Amino acid sequence: MSHNLFETFAARMRDRSDADFITTREGRRYSYRAALDASARLAGALKALGVAPGDRVAVQVDKSPEAILLYLACLRMGGVYLPLNTGYTADEIRYFLTDAEPALFVCRPAALDEARTVAGESGCPAVETLGTDADGSLLTLAERAEAYSDIEPREQEDLAAILYTSGTTGRSKGAMLTHRNLGSNAATLVQAWRFTGEDRLIHALPIFHTHGLFVGCNVTLMAGSSMLFLPRFDADTIFEEMPHGSVMMGVPTFYTRLVADERLTPEATANMRLFVSGSAPLTAETHQAFEAKTGHAILERYGMTETNMNLSNPYDGERRAGTVGMPLPGVEYRITDRETHAPVPQGEIGMLEIRGPNVFIGYWRMPEKTREELLEDGFFITGDLAMTDAHGYVHIVGRDKDLVISGGYNVYPKEVEQVIDELEGVVESAVIGVPHPDFGEGVTAVVVAQSDASLDERRVLDYLQDRLAKYKQPKRVFFTDVLPRNTMGKVQKNELRKQYQDTYR
Ligand code: ATP
Ligand code: MG
Repeated sequence: MSHNLFETFAARMRDRSDADFITTREGRRYSYRAALDASARLAGALKALGVAPGDRVAVQVDKSPEAILLYLACLRMGGVYLPLNTGYTADEIRYFLTDAEPALFVCRPAALDEARTVAGESGCPAVETLGTDADGSLLTLAERAEAYSDIEPREQEDLAAILYTSGTTGRSKGAMLTHRNLGSNAATLVQAWRFTGEDRLIHALPIFHTHGLFVGCNVTLMAGSSMLFLPRFDADTIFEEMPHGSVMMGVPTFYTRLVADERLTPEATANMRLFVSGSAPLTAETHQAFEAKTGHAILERYGMTETNMNLSNPYDGERRAGTVGMPLPGVEYRITDRETHAPVPQGEIGMLEIRGPNVFIGYWRMPEKTREELLEDGFFITGDLAMTDAHGYVHIVGRDKDLVISGGYNVYPKEVEQVIDELEGVVESAVIGVPHPDFGEGVTAVVVAQSDASLDERRVLDYLQDRLAKYKQPKRVFFTDVLPRNTMGKVQKNELRKQYQDTYR
């Protein structure tokens, strides 16, 4: 029996032939039948280009329905889909192509010349283009090539995709994801979040990342529901589309922007049944404000490139602000001592480790790193610090790499940030550790203040005086207009640490 994930998708797609799979605001529409056909033609094009089962297909294109059809075509013919962040420069692409050795690189039409040069330098044999108007050389080829209507047999452990991590803590690593990884997680999420063929997902996330690609698209395919593809988040569009949608998946910045909008009311969200948040921490404040304005409790979940989704607040039952809920069915977690891996008592902070059919099989061509992070008993060390509360809900405390050790004491940035954020006039803050001659690391706060707020360093420090133990209090407070964030809305503390590295020297 073949375990190609596309078998499962195709069965559902045939059942739902006439239903919409992807639509756009410009009036483009792919029914499931059309998507099945297009995936066979694109798979034919891949074959004609010399892509064989197990070969990587690297893709750096703007978001379009056809990019998802290419992903499906790749699964269908046994290729390994390798999407790349649209923000990567030619130098970065050179690294990825050299590292992944794809048989084909699909780029944006406007980037063709540059892509050819980079592909040439990295030994990638073929380059084709795919645009956002159903254009590009790959589609021309697909029209002419003989359709590949079969489904290449695959084993559970065969690779379906290599997805590079976001690079928040260092150089991006290629996570090897199998047919079983992706299939098990999509099936679990359909159940956990009650997806059906009736659902219409408002899809405003990028599709080169696990959130928009695997959570958004695989869940849709598995449930036979439909998606409205938007190029990006835009509040005006979201308000126009919510009356026609049922679910939205977003990063926290989507929700902070909606909460700040006076159009956010129970009426505006009346047709929606579910709002999901993930990829970065959603503050309890935003969660509560959203619920107060709409009656909807945002469902926050936790996942990562290496594991898909692990923990989720419940669909039925309390969705606790500031937590990521409990393990999804089939997923195990433990919270352990950072050094010994021995489980810590409930209520204490430790390293979050995950085991389950969703956990990747290793980093592409990084055996050392894989051995360090994927333990022999199957648990994966996430690099995130967490704590389980008395109600069984898991709190993500922050990244292990962001932990500040000052004078031998552990300082959890999130705890300090939460207190700073309560001060009138503060929009948000980031707490980092930078080298300090006496303390090892000095706790340092970077604050974004409201434009009309009269805040200064003294005011912030005075405010913290009675609210935090001395060792947790920042030694310096700096102000900035915006915190550096990547496309997934993650604060790039690496950059902040670099910027303030000489503060105490
Ligand atoms: P890199 O691994 O390259 O440094 P990255 O960890 O940001 O980058 P991703 O796999 O995109 O790459 O992100 C996973 C991380 O995102 C998690 O390890 C966690 O730190 C964070 N994250 C995801 N969901 C949540 C959430 N609900 N709350 C807090 N953090 C979250
Ligand atoms: Mg990571």
